[in-house]
Amino acid sequence: MNEHASILKPITLGAHTVPGLWRSMLPEDVLYFRVDPEAGSSCFNCPQVKAHGFHPTSRCCSYIPRIPNFLLGLALMDAETQAVARDFVGSGYTIPEGSQVSPLQMEQSLGFLSGQLPHGTVVCPLLDRTSKKCQVYAFRNGVCSTFFCRHDQGQAGAEFWESLTDLVTQVETALAQWALAQAGFDLDAYFERFESLQHSMDTCTDPVTGTWSDSARRLLFAEWYGREEELFLHCATAILENTKDLFEIAGQQRLRQTPGYDRAQRERLGPRFEAALIAEALPEGEAVPIRSLWYSTQLAHRNLQLHRLKASSTGSSD
Ligand code: SF4
Ligand code: SF4
Repeated sequence: MNEHASILKPITLGAHTVPGLWRSMLPEDVLYFRVDPEAGSSCFNCPQVKAHGFHPTSRCCSYIPRIPNFLLGLALMDAETQAVARDFVGSGYTIPEGSQVSPLQMEQSLGFLSGQLPHGTVVCPLLDRTSKKCQVYAFRNGVCSTFFCRHDQGQAGAEFWESLTDLVTQVETALAQWALAQAGFDLDAYFERFESLQHSMDTCTDPVTGTWSDSARRLLFAEWYGREEELFLHCATAILENTKDLFEIAGQQRLRQTPGYDRAQRERLGPRFEAALIAEALPEGEAVPIRSLWYSTQLAHRNLQLHRLKASSTGSSD
């Protein structure tokens, strides 16, 4: 890991620490963005516990994050995070692209978001419940790295962070698929196998742990089943060997999706949850191109600067 320490050393966007790999995953301009501190999101004295009844330990770490395979591989390489990453992978949270919710976990998440399940029901397994710290902080995903429950610059701040979330998430998805191909994984065959799960949704979840069932993981990992850590390490190595070109690589990667599997999920969940909630969790249609997301992020950053100038001249932040 030492030889890669400089690449992985966390960087800051304004007052906020984000994964060091963003240096090469995103255009250099991001490093020069002027970003305001989101002081209202004071995580270790979380205002949402009192305001909205968030669980005092899990707070907003109340979902199962989608962490791409290469970030899990990097966490497996790092002495500090290796044990927790091993446990996470070994507990069935992952499929070849990285961690992803099982059908039961999707149901539980929607149950929580719709208010049918109380705060504290869904908790990220990577949260240290004693210290309330993220155990894979340096390798957390784009959603976790950009989420703030309050925005000091109001709507302009919210739109900036949301557009950055969308960009980073799409880059992570593209790179996870590219990294699999670099490891010798046949992406077309993999996505065909994944789509076949739409006919056996009930067998995808382990009834005891709620994570992916052994049979689903066996199908999805195919020849890599039982060697999941090795696969993720291969993915991380491919990323580390190409740090100069990652944003271009992501932009050129054809993003594969699982429309049949997602449709089966929507049909299964439709009777119990609101359509808007399902649409947010399982969006339909083509993936938005990374260049469009980058354009939106630049625009949102420009609007944030304009908003700040306006706010400083009128003395208001909303
Ligand atoms: S971002 Fe999450 S942990 Fe931080 S203050 Fe907001 S809800 Fe609490
Ligand atoms: S990965 Fe870390 S930051 Fe993200 S939800 Fe889990 S504990 Fe929270």
